[in-house]
Amino acid sequence: DFSVSLPKTGDDELGDLAQSIQLLANDLSYLKEERSEFLSSISHELRTPLTYIKGYADIVQKRNLTAEERNQYLTIILEETNRLSDMVKNLFDLAKIDKNSFDIHKTPIDLHDFMRKIEAKFTPAFMDKKMILEVNCPEAIQLNADASRLEQIIFNLLDNSIKYSSPDGKTAITVSRHNKNIIIRIKDNGKGIPEHELPYIFNRFYRVDKSRTRALGGTGLGLAIVKELIHAHGGTITVKSKENIGTEFDMVFKGDDG
Ligand code: ADP
Repeated sequence: DFSVSLPKTGDDELGDLAQSIQLLANDLSYLKEERSEFLSSISHELRTPLTYIKGYADIVQKRNLTAEERNQYLTIILEETNRLSDMVKNLFDLAKIDKNSFDIHKTPIDLHDFMRKIEAKFTPAFMDKKMILEVNCPEAIQLNADASRLEQIIFNLLDNSIKYSSPDGKTAITVSRHNKNIIIRIKDNGKGIPEHELPYIFNRFYRVDKSRTRALGGTGLGLAIVKELIHAHGGTITVKSKENIGTEFDMVFKGDDG
């Protein structure tokens, strides 16, 4: 049974989040018959951060803590709130995709310009981790796609390449054209994915190492959304990876009508 209750805290973020979860529960009610497994994963996944938030909030309220402890617990509360917020946002997207009420507004995108903007936007996040982002895209290459969805796809893949790489790692985006197809490759030299895990990484809530990715703030929904968004564009995504060598995602889009 899917029910989550959060305290109503008025005009603040937690209150907004409680409301989002309520709306989400309504939005996902159609899942009840066909996808109860997904639904029970959702309740489980939402409860985990809520348990942390409640537990640490209780401690902060009831115990005498040093300033340092207090800070540490508040940080956890904040991280878990952010995770919950990301998860709710991701679940909204998946719910819309499942219901086919997901609008894709394709426009012709100049990929050279687009990738330069992506580079400018994401370089700070790479620099924060002392990583390098390299972007290679020829000029005069156009793709019919939904620009904000394409950015979301690339954001999720770049975010993963940062999360699962060590400092001084490098991620490269390479755009190329093969006949009428446009290929966008995102390749990192991070920790890689064990071969036997590869068939599952696009599944909802699938994480290779639950405890490790939990510490990194993962929800296990990023790649599921990437896959759905690419399919909604008529494209495909494949992955190659070697442990401790790196991971490569290849997206193929049809060049003529997107
Ligand atoms: P998460 O929110 O946990 O990152 P995703 O759906 O984005 O969820 O990814 C699923 C799992 O695939 C991750 O938990 C991680 O183990 C693995 N993974 C994804 N991208 C990479 C990458 N670039 N390098 C290594 N592992 C990755």
